[in-house]
Amino acid sequence: MDRFPELILEGTPYEMGCQQVEQLGAEAVVDRVRDGFRIYADYHDKPHFDEYLQAADRSLRGWAPHLAAEIEGIADASGLPYPEVLAHNYYTTFRRLYAPAASQQQCSCVGMADTDQGPAFGKNNDASPGPEGCYIARRRPQGKYRFVDFTYYGLVSVVAGMNETGFCFGGASLGAIKPPPIRATDIPVMMILRRWLEDFSTVHEAIRSATTEPVDCGAHYLVADARTEPGLVHIEWIKADIIGINWPDENGNVYCTNIVCTDECAGYLDPAGGEIISNSRDRLASIRKLLQSTPRTVDGIKSIMSSHELPGVICQHDKMGSSIMDTALSAVFVPHERTVWISHGIPCQNPYEPYVV
Ligand SMILES: [Zn+2]
Repeated sequence: MDRFPELILEGTPYEMGCQQVEQLGAEAVVDRVRDGFRIYADYHDKPHFDEYLQAADRSLRGWAPHLAAEIEGIADASGLPYPEVLAHNYYTTFRRLYAPAASQQQCSCVGMADTDQGPAFGKNNDASPGPEGCYIARRRPQGKYRFVDFTYYGLVSVVAGMNETGFCFGGASLGAIKPPPIRATDIPVMMILRRWLEDFSTVHEAIRSATTEPVDCGAHYLVADARTEPGLVHIEWIKADIIGINWPDENGNVYCTNIVCTDECAGYLDPAGGEIISNSRDRLASIRKLLQSTPRTVDGIKSIMSSHELPGVICQHDKMGSSIMDTALSAVFVPHERTVWISHGIPCQNPYEPYVV
């Protein structure tokens, strides 16, 4: 089994951008930006592209200038023009600007507020690049919390992670929804998440950010911390003003697949979502069933993330059951232990390894 690359990134924002390219290899980063995500390649001839990109650049430099500097580091070290790397970092925004109804269907998350080690949750990353496109990083930004995260080559933003306070999050796509229009000046959701890891230590800070920041389009997120009770929440997040907050249920559980469930978001479900909706409903049914019989421990969460229980397998591969995607990585977050357990590949076959922040 190929392992995900593990990077150590520290120093100034520009230096961290350069280090990412040096440690992954310039050729691999260029390949993912140019041929993997293809944001600049596919959209640079579309109407208003330059105007949108300039608006995004101005917006980012006002909102988080250090992230713009880190993108400059990636551009200089890889030889890619800055606009191409910027467009890559705005992939969620540009895809929705030009294809607003695009549905995404990845990932399952399951959390327990009361394990033997406090609140904890698991996240399977489905249908994403494997080790040739996704990396694990230990980041030590100047003047901010240090953190462990995983994300995609060429990005300064993050998919999921935990910082030194134990604050952590992992998510799942919203699935088949008809989101409201977005603007080029909106901030890509994964950049907002990057700042959560740099600055936050509680779920309440995350909720406040999610309800105020100009996000392009959110997702489902389980968020946990080591400082509050219950220290675990599910945020169903379309925009700052279209958001549902689920605290653990009477059994201490939170979970999500790729279907909106809260009253606040349910109206945005796209009924044409067909297979995505049925796959998500099947996984929810399996999660509910498994939660009734699984020990309330960190190992119990790992077993759910590795499960092939029907009707909706959580560890998705080889077209098992209703599988329409492939799990590429699984992670279990334990805030009180400051530990992320990561399986390099499908968790039914690859043991979870501890990453202590
Ligand atoms: Zn499996």
